[in-house]
Amino acid sequence: MFESSYLNKVYDELLIKSKNEPEFLQAVEEFLKSIDLIIQDYPDIEKYSIIERIIEPERVIMFRVPWVDDQNGIKVNRGFRVQFNSAIGPYKGGIRFDKSVTLSIMKFLAFEQMFKNSLTGLPMGGAKGGSDFSPIGKSDNEIMRFCQSFMSELYRHIGADLDVPAGDFGVGAREIGYMFGYYKKLKNEFTGAFTGKGLSFGGSLVRKEATGYGVCYFAEEALKIMKNDSLKGKRIIVTGSGNVGTYTAIKAVELGAKVIAMSDISGYVYDENGIDVNYVRDIKEKQKKNLDSYPIAYPLVKFVPNYKEVWTIKADIIFPCATQNELDIEDAKKLVKNGTIMVCEGANMPTTIAAIDYLIKHNILFAPGKAANAGGVATSGLEMSQNSIRLNWTATEVDNKLHSIMKNIFKTCYNTAKKVGKEGNLVIGANIAGFLKIYEAMVAEGVI
Ligand code: NDP
Repeated sequence: MFESSYLNKVYDELLIKSKNEPEFLQAVEEFLKSIDLIIQDYPDIEKYSIIERIIEPERVIMFRVPWVDDQNGIKVNRGFRVQFNSAIGPYKGGIRFDKSVTLSIMKFLAFEQMFKNSLTGLPMGGAKGGSDFSPIGKSDNEIMRFCQSFMSELYRHIGADLDVPAGDFGVGAREIGYMFGYYKKLKNEFTGAFTGKGLSFGGSLVRKEATGYGVCYFAEEALKIMKNDSLKGKRIIVTGSGNVGTYTAIKAVELGAKVIAMSDISGYVYDENGIDVNYVRDIKEKQKKNLDSYPIAYPLVKFVPNYKEVWTIKADIIFPCATQNELDIEDAKKLVKNGTIMVCEGANMPTTIAAIDYLIKHNILFAPGKAANAGGVATSGLEMSQNSIRLNWTATEVDNKLHSIMKNIFKTCYNTAKKVGKEGNLVIGANIAGFLKIYEAMVAEGVI
């Protein structure tokens, strides 16, 4: 599979050890394909068994989360925290509550998070956590009881200088509030052990918007440097209408693009005149409904109750912001046929390996999530800094810092790809640049 016999040996062993972890294997394979290009130039990678060590989490915590529902029934979910790598800083990464959560998904997310955090230039290691609990359809009290039970185990493994969780799927301001509150009670201290907190208790301005805004800043910079172009006037599709999708759409419109389609689990809305992206935010954040209710305000707009069909629409730029593996090879073929010029990932690993290869082969500018969606964790890093110095920065200050971090991440990925003879391949650039910093730290810190 790889040129390097060392990488083949390590990956073959992983295939046996992690045979029930398909998402994790996919993330490692995609990463190793890039490392294959530099392995000869860095003999210390093999000498110090860096690959064997970097694909093994430092710690996996798996625990029972019992809670009582509103009917007094006792429910049990499974909780996870995967602390993947702390070579360059305290563990950092979101918490996901969704019925699809498995150990494999936690490991792939934590693995990718390690490189993403490295790319931000901030001192943060990689982690991810969550549970197979879905907040959908639960009352506020049920969610609070669940979060408190989850935290009654997790509190002993996290802390401002140890591991700082944040939100992800199913974990927004409400869940973080409940978890942070219980953490504070159990530890009897008020420290920045979470990011994405409410503004009244240590949160940062622009954190909520940061991932989506950052995705657009990255896309804008890539278009400028690589195609002498911009988002202005482009017809855009955004999949997923959650935190990342909504704020990607809002910023894209602010930068002069037209969002012609957006999707969620209920299906997608399509309007050639441009979707009302602020109304989508209203549906999701305030009304807590799905996009099938969009036509209530806009009866002439087309709603299709199948999110998969969104890929048939002709658009210039695609922002997949929903979930892993939502864009497969058949979808990629449709995009190429439709003349798409760019795919910029807002979600984590939304594109399958075969689809990425196909898009790049057909000269579509492809921006990988571990670089393009790093604005969320970067702003979490800024929230940690504000908590440490006990000061709050203004929205403009945070937004300016976010903008410059995203431009730097693009520059790092672009220059690294160029240096290894793969100019324009941002996947390779992101994997290698993210890796090299961690590799240097791991060699320096010894065998631990
Ligand atoms: P949310 O839960 O806020 O939103 C997810 C959205 O995707 C929802 O609108 C959901 O629909 C929709 N959705 C889920 N599956 C599909 C699908 N197959 N097709 C179309 N729509 C779908 O999550 P986030 O926005 O926070 O996260 C989205 C992705 O971005 C994840 O991969 C996450 O790991 C990643 N990410 C998130 C960051 C953050 O700061 N939040 C940071 C970096 C990455 P419905 O509303 O109907 O359930």
